[in-house]
Amino acid sequence: MLMTNPWLASGEWLKGALHVHTTNSDGKLSPQEVVDTYRQAGYDFVVLTDHGRVTPPDTVDGQGMVVLGGAEVGIGRTQHGGTYHLVAVGLKDQLPEGLSQATLGEAVALLRAQGALVYLAHPYWSLLTLEDLLAADFDGLEVFNAGCEYETRHGDAVQHVDWMMARDRMPRLIAVDDSHFGFWDACGGWTMVKAADRTPEAILEALRAGFSYASAGPIFEDLELCEDGLVVRSSPVRAVTMIRPGAGQGWTTDSTYTTRPRDTTTTEAVAPVPMGTPFRIEVIDAQGRKAWMNPMVLRGEQ
Ligand SMILES: [Zn+2]
Ligand SMILES: [Zn+2]
Repeated sequence: MLMTNPWLASGEWLKGALHVHTTNSDGKLSPQEVVDTYRQAGYDFVVLTDHGRVTPPDTVDGQGMVVLGGAEVGIGRTQHGGTYHLVAVGLKDQLPEGLSQATLGEAVALLRAQGALVYLAHPYWSLLTLEDLLAADFDGLEVFNAGCEYETRHGDAVQHVDWMMARDRMPRLIAVDDSHFGFWDACGGWTMVKAADRTPEAILEALRAGFSYASAGPIFEDLELCEDGLVVRSSPVRAVTMIRPGAGQGWTTDSTYTTRPRDTTTTEAVAPVPMGTPFRIEVIDAQGRKAWMNPMVLRGEQ
């Protein structure tokens, strides 16, 4: 069966901003203005992730949009001499005690103990090495950080994902804005979550289960295991690519399959079934915008 296939989970797809800053740290808009901006852009939920402090979700009016607490925490020392930036999603009102003295591993555990999911922020922008990626048990990482892409072209971290998969890790992938609103840096990367309902608890549960994908534009519509193979359906895209562990350097791009337009609104691709081998699927559209599924694996009987 196809493990963690969100298209088989019940619920609805919700669009979320998982990494945003407000005037409670170095953002230019107030928490309410940030929430209003994303609501007007059609988002279903936003996670307020100010540097070093939690902006409690009950201090803003979501007006129907779900607002979650979170924070971005700088901690430890990476191989290239920077700090790890961790994005904690799902904090209630404050950071756990003892966080500032904690080691990296302790920090992840402390944040998790409060019910948060802990993602590695902008691995490429931080120039994280493989050793950095394996230094703690993170829930996932930012495969795409729009702000880092705009500012330094260091926003797309697929290589870091592939390194982790080559070491038998299956990180959950999120795409984010890391918006500060000094310029228009919103709505460039988002995460789609298949949640049972529109509550913070259901959103966190879906993220934890891997019922999500990351996008900078394209929409994944379905992933289905058929006799022909693995069928991927999406909004119109130029290519559907399956990436999985290879020999040699550890990773090769296995193949880019010729896609066929099923109708004017859908691209369909049929990939061979990589039974028992972890893989991930990404698509790229005519404008060069990508979307990324979580790493997954097919096992045994259907
Ligand atoms: Zn950061
Ligand atoms: Zn940030």
